[in-house]
Amino acid sequence: MTMLTGARMVTPAGVISDGWLRLSGGLIAELGQGVPAELGQGVPGQDAPAELAGGWLVPGFIDLHMHGGGGHDVTESVESMAAAIDYHRRRGSTRTLVSLMAGPLDAMCEHLGWLVGLVDADQQLAGAHLEGPFLAHARCGAQNAAYLQQPDTQLLAKLLDAGQGIVRSVTIAPELPGALGLISELAAAGVVAAIGHTDAGYQQAQAGFTAGATLVTHLFNAMPPLDHRRPGAALAALESPAALELINDGVHVHPAMVRLAASRGRDRLVLVTDAMSATGMGDGSYQLGGLPVTVVDGQARASTSGSLAGSTLTLDEAFRRAVHEVGLSIEDAVAAASTNPARVLGLSERCGAIRPGLAADLVWLDEDLQVRRVMVAGRWL
Ligand SMILES: [Zn+2]
Repeated sequence: MTMLTGARMVTPAGVISDGWLRLSGGLIAELGQGVPAELGQGVPGQDAPAELAGGWLVPGFIDLHMHGGGGHDVTESVESMAAAIDYHRRRGSTRTLVSLMAGPLDAMCEHLGWLVGLVDADQQLAGAHLEGPFLAHARCGAQNAAYLQQPDTQLLAKLLDAGQGIVRSVTIAPELPGALGLISELAAAGVVAAIGHTDAGYQQAQAGFTAGATLVTHLFNAMPPLDHRRPGAALAALESPAALELINDGVHVHPAMVRLAASRGRDRLVLVTDAMSATGMGDGSYQLGGLPVTVVDGQARASTSGSLAGSTLTLDEAFRRAVHEVGLSIEDAVAAASTNPARVLGLSERCGAIRPGLAADLVWLDEDLQVRRVMVAGRWL
């Protein structure tokens, strides 16, 4: 048993300023306000309160979109994949999807195999996100267009088989021939279909949501901009009930557009990093999806096309920006960084909030929302 006191806790019922949290067996057992009756009568060493001395306690962040970090690309080796996950975990992402871009089928299957091994060893790992290969050529961004494919049930089956149940989401351009059938198949199989890297018109995108897509891959990026005559996938996404990924780094999306997405409801916004290996490493030359990327002033761009090529963002920074730059309440920011992505993954009964019965995955932040410590399943890292 561990008792945490002294920090403001952001819970589904609101902020508790003088709260306490009792942890047991890696879970949140109980929480309350004021001084718990048993405090001070516990068995010494067993139930000692850990005084957090201020700051905020929020649920662990959950990143649905990550390609690397700390100098590690998830496709370099299984060790690099694990190191990138660990890099983000130490910055508050207690659960992460590993995103794989369009590549040769054999390579994608091999990378999925690595992740299967990591998920077996670490139940905290959320699984894989396939960002391709069923994407629009015109909106493939920094992806290698040579590896894009038309929607194909057999190809999808090969990838899902290689993932042995760990593929949790697949990004698809709904305007491609056969895409709507693939989206329905994914939804029926319990895999999240995400609309993205798309040139779809408004109605084509709506058809994607009707077919079962419940997520939008980095809204506003890799799709036509909001246009009052051709509203496109962006407006269809805002109007749909789907969750909306946003790369809130101040580069990919203007803070005002983040507010627009957030205004669609507290349960809609999902902060993601789309982080690549340069995250935390400074400017220089890197690779993403096998293509050269140049990072200048923290902006990662494909060296040939100049397209934004992922970000150098971590979720704690996205969270801070959501509060400080975008102006969201801390409760809305917690929903976007933890609660909503947990729901997208079907994990609402396991994590994503400070609530009894859920995993004790916690981030302790200082007054400026900088990470002080990260707890995974009841243990401080
Ligand atoms: Zn990505």
